[in-house]
Amino acid sequence: FEPVLEREYRQHMRADQRRSTLVCLITALGIWLTFIGLDLTRLDNLIAIDSRDVFVELAIALRLGTLAVILRLVWVVRCNRHAHAYHHLTMLALALIGVTCAFIANMYKLRGLPQADIAQLVIIAAVFLPVGLTFLQSLGIALLIAVFTTGLGLLMLEPVQLAEHVRLSILLFFAVFVSAVGAWLRERAERDQFLLRRMLHSRAMSDALTGVANRRGFEEHVVMALLQARRERAPVVFAVLDVDHFKRYNDRYGHQAGDVALALIARAIDSKLRPPMDMVGRLGGEEFGLLLYDTTPEKAQERLGRVAQAIAELRIEHAASPTAQYITVSMGAAAFDGQETAIDLYRRADAALYAGKASGRNRVELGEGGERLAG
Ligand code: GH3
Ligand code: MG
Ligand code: MG
Repeated sequence: FEPVLEREYRQHMRADQRRSTLVCLITALGIWLTFIGLDLTRLDNLIAIDSRDVFVELAIALRLGTLAVILRLVWVVRCNRHAHAYHHLTMLALALIGVTCAFIANMYKLRGLPQADIAQLVIIAAVFLPVGLTFLQSLGIALLIAVFTTGLGLLMLEPVQLAEHVRLSILLFFAVFVSAVGAWLRERAERDQFLLRRMLHSRAMSDALTGVANRRGFEEHVVMALLQARRERAPVVFAVLDVDHFKRYNDRYGHQAGDVALALIARAIDSKLRPPMDMVGRLGGEEFGLLLYDTTPEKAQERLGRVAQAIAELRIEHAASPTAQYITVSMGAAAFDGQETAIDLYRRADAALYAGKASGRNRVELGEGGERLAG
């Protein structure tokens, strides 16, 4: 994907896999505590063999360090904080688990204790579980663990143990390969599904004729923007725009020409807005809603005037209009009072529109006392 879409995909995937991440983490935590329990039963044995072994101290530090990282990760995922960063912690935890297990398995092996270095295979498979990592991130960690396990064995083990170690290492790289193929296929399916869902959502939210947001998409945005405006104490102006004498236009030029005119008007409105917080939506018929974020009533007067100007500049001939030679629009606007609901705000803007229509059309009217904004 392109960078912006990729960021959206990863965000979506992390949110989507939060629950499975938590399940995997709690399982990992249980297994890790079991390992620590096993270590403790063998500790006497280890210390008896070599009481001042720096390896034993290192092993304990790695076990506890990994435990701390897993606990921190459980906490971060559980509280849903720093969601943008927790995949770094996940990669660290997985790498630490792999490295620690490789190290301790070798230590046990050197001391002739029962050990299960085959567990490295399980760890490789676990790296590809759905824990919010992308395929490439998982592959990187799995390869790191396989290479580290191989290298560390070559460094630490006795010559007689090396043949078996090489067999294990080959098996590890096979495990990386097989797990990676499965994970790659899963990620492809996930990406396809993400695109499909995104496309369906955007279709459900946009108007087929004009390409701007439809009523549902616009309402969703307005509710979100008003919440944000309340938090940020930002001024917001809401306007309803209605094409003047559009029935006559259809009657004179035909419905198809009317459709073309609506699409041109929508594009002209859109060109004067500042995304992503400003938005235009088709409320129905030849009526559009405009949300002007971070805009005072004074500034709205100027900005809505520019919208009317852009539509006038389209010079769409309307010989049947009693108002002008070209298509004109009327707008009713209301400034958000910081408290009211989107429906109340819409009602006030609509009442202003009605007043604007009554007083001659081709104008912008501000709500409340029907104060005129611009003509
Ligand atoms: P006013 O200045 O009072 O707004 O007059 P008007 O004729 O625009 O108002 P009215 O609400 O009576 O008519 C709206 C017209 O818009 C009626 C309908 O034919 C037309 N219309 C609604 N939706 C569409 C559409 O999708 N395509 C076309 N071509 N026309 C539409
Ligand atoms: Mg109209
Ligand atoms: Mg209308």
